[in-house]
Amino acid sequence: MGLETNIKSSIRDVPDFPKPGIMFKDITPIFENQNLCNEITDGFVSSIQGKPDAIVGIESRGFLFGFLLANKLGIPFILVRKAGKLPYKTIGYEYDLEYGSAKIEMHEGSIRKNWNVVIHDDLLATGGTASAAASLVEMQGAKVSAFTFVVGLGFLNGKDKLISHSNNIICLAQY
Ligand code: AMP
Repeated sequence: MGLETNIKSSIRDVPDFPKPGIMFKDITPIFENQNLCNEITDGFVSSIQGKPDAIVGIESRGFLFGFLLANKLGIPFILVRKAGKLPYKTIGYEYDLEYGSAKIEMHEGSIRKNWNVVIHDDLLATGGTASAAASLVEMQGAKVSAFTFVVGLGFLNGKDKLISHSNNIICLAQY
């Protein structure tokens, strides 16, 4: 079986979570399968062109494969978290949600000017979060060379929000 089929057979669909009308793609069963975890990490390694300077992982499920990928490539892993969660000095970016706004942060000085970074999260939905992470990276004089996701929900057109940052958008399993 191909990687996409293997991923899809390990994803659990949870209807109406966290609110009515949402079909939540639960990736936690993947972490019970070491072979699949290795295949996913290798799948990302072979889809990324060249060697980036760092992987930026988005809270919280983006930390899981984001860190494995960075470690496999032998490059730094940088955490993006919701405002107020990181202990040291931070740099933040505020972005609009359907109702209201949200803020994400990373530690000051973790990204260097002119770095090429890959932004990673578990799932691409509307693209709002990954696009905000890309803006936070670019504010610091670095470039986004790719986005990687385990799952992409194509019907939400999240790629449209990311394309201005990088057109290298990798989703290993597409719905
Ligand atoms: P978005 O900013 O709309 O692309 O949302 C992406 C973030 O929300 C990711 O961190 C996902 O973990 C989470 N997310 C959004 N929709 C879903 C879904 N249907 N199933 C699982 N996670 C989701």
